[in-house]
Amino acid sequence: MFFQVLGSSSSGNCSYLECDGVKAFIDAGLGIKRIRKYLAGRGLDIEDIDAVFVTHEHFDHYASLCYFAAAGTKIYANRGTAECIRYKDSKTKNANWQIFETGQKFDFYGIDVLPFTIPHDTTDPVGYSFTHQGSALTYATDIGKVTNSVQDFARNCSVLVLESNYCPLMLARSNRPPRLKNRISSTSGHLSNADAISLLKALPPVVKKVYLTHVSRECNSVGHIAELLGKSGIDSEMLRRIEIVSPFDAPSSPVEF
Ligand SMILES: [Zn+2]
Ligand SMILES: [Zn+2]
Repeated sequence: MFFQVLGSSSSGNCSYLECDGVKAFIDAGLGIKRIRKYLAGRGLDIEDIDAVFVTHEHFDHYASLCYFAAAGTKIYANRGTAECIRYKDSKTKNANWQIFETGQKFDFYGIDVLPFTIPHDTTDPVGYSFTHQGSALTYATDIGKVTNSVQDFARNCSVLVLESNYCPLMLARSNRPPRLKNRISSTSGHLSNADAISLLKALPPVVKKVYLTHVSRECNSVGHIAELLGKSGIDSEMLRRIEIVSPFDAPSSPVEF
């Protein structure tokens, strides 16, 4: 499998997964120009993408989905998420929706896909586990807290994409309205650096690569997370495997596994 985060922040989230010639995005929340530019760099166009796997109906996860709808790309989501996006963006009404049941594994061209429940303030938000020939990718962003299932999927994968959204102190000091501050820090909001790092501390050596994503531009920074990681007690071998994805329009490094 090949994986790369195109971009991840509250302004847009989109990741690319390729496996045995099958090409997919996880979320399509970046602007279409950036998505097209990334694809062009790989000699591809939107029509070459086999599917988009959607996590939930926040705009930073589906902003460019209408372009895939127009191209007839398969769009995977559970019913609640699909209905909300169809309502919010009428251009996705007649998309090639592929409706799954959260918690039920299904086959996608030889890849086992398992969408699992995550705690977030939308209808039926999911993280994903993609497994192919013993290699697994766990994708878990926009999670208010680390649940048992998030922990299980995080500990049993080769590559982990995990949110490390905010620093509580920077959030408290920010100019955001109290309601938004409460939303972000609630157990159905976003994951704090401390919660993300305590999960990382418990990762076994089978996890070869970790991407920390959805870093808040105003209430967090790559440097701050790096500092916390340095003081976390996580061993140097695991630290080398952790990549903090910049929230300022930069793709991550790619990984093959
Ligand atoms: Zn988000
Ligand atoms: Zn969200």
